[in-house]
Amino acid sequence: MRDGVWGSLVGQEELAAGLAAAVADPARLTHAYLFTGPPGSGRSTAARAFAAALLCPDGGCGECRECRTALDGSHADVEVVNTEGLSIPVKQARELALTAAHHPSVGAWRIIVIEDADRLTEQAADALLKALEEPSPRTVWMLCAPSPQDVIVTIRSRSRHLSLRTPPVEAVAALLESQGVDAAMAAYAARAAQSHIGVARWLARDESARARRHTVTRIPFELEGLGSALRKAASLHEVATSEAAAEAEQRDVAEREELLRLNGADPTARAQPPAIRGQLNQLAKEQKARATRRVRDVIDRTLVDLASVYRDALLVSVGASGVDLVNPQDAGDLQRLAGTTSADALLLCLEQVDTARTRIGENVTPLLALEAMLVGLHQLQGDLARTSTGRGPR
Ligand SMILES: [Zn+2]
Repeated sequence: MRDGVWGSLVGQEELAAGLAAAVADPARLTHAYLFTGPPGSGRSTAARAFAAALLCPDGGCGECRECRTALDGSHADVEVVNTEGLSIPVKQARELALTAAHHPSVGAWRIIVIEDADRLTEQAADALLKALEEPSPRTVWMLCAPSPQDVIVTIRSRSRHLSLRTPPVEAVAALLESQGVDAAMAAYAARAAQSHIGVARWLARDESARARRHTVTRIPFELEGLGSALRKAASLHEVATSEAAAEAEQRDVAEREELLRLNGADPTARAQPPAIRGQLNQLAKEQKARATRRVRDVIDRTLVDLASVYRDALLVSVGASGVDLVNPQDAGDLQRLAGTTSADALLLCLEQVDTARTRIGENVTPLLALEAMLVGLHQLQGDLARTSTGRGPR
């Protein structure tokens, strides 16, 4: 049962068994599923594996054409929606509703995977309701989101909920090893990524990613004053922005050329005809939205890294044994941080980081949120040291 397409679900044995059983007995299928789980737990991988298993003549062998094309999203009857912008617009939702009404073209099922169902606007969700409620009998919806609460309630109540757990660090490390990463690197990457499969893979393969993570996780040990707090905020922001830009650049240019090519225009021409200009403007708008989201995503990931240091220091501070540190390489510095900062203050530090994440998620200018966070962290850290030197808590 763990072979074939289910092999790609790391640490989700129970879920895989349930899905395989539904594939084997279509009477158990329902028309809409909601996959939830923490980022990097493999929500969309699970949805794609399920889609492949439904379309595969052997229930998900992982090798046939149906399986391969369903997994990589190129199957004619599998529509995978991944949002690049901050939300899924109503126009796209209407198109999906139309797609859902059609019978499958080659396979037994038509499957629509929405990778970020939490990004459906209320209007977009409304446009989907009818299609979710009375779909064509051969259509299956697979929605993915971090948690059920992230999805508009009318959508949530119309789908069957399946939850993924955070995969164990060992399972993620084993996956990396099976993909050719050496054992020590696999263990480091899985631990540092806190079981986020995509991040672990990226850390294992990309030296600059490890360097960036290192810079971020050193911040708590290098906060020396208000000035340094503000400088750290600026550099955090800079790192995230340039990473997002580097990633976007190539793709943006390629997309523009593709659009021009499809319209039979000359990509090297300095001015384009009016009909094409409209489309180019639209594309530029989408690319800008994507870049904004990308910067926020990268910042969010760096904040998860930063929080892991305060979490580790808190574990050291309360003497928790038997719990693995995310950053064992910094054991000495973590001891010192726990020695100068009380457990209460460390908890508040974690809250500061969490607040910054929430605020950035709510569209506060990232740099401002980062500055407020680092100033807060600077004020919280070292409370014990201040008391003992007679300066008193802040
Ligand atoms: Zn197959």
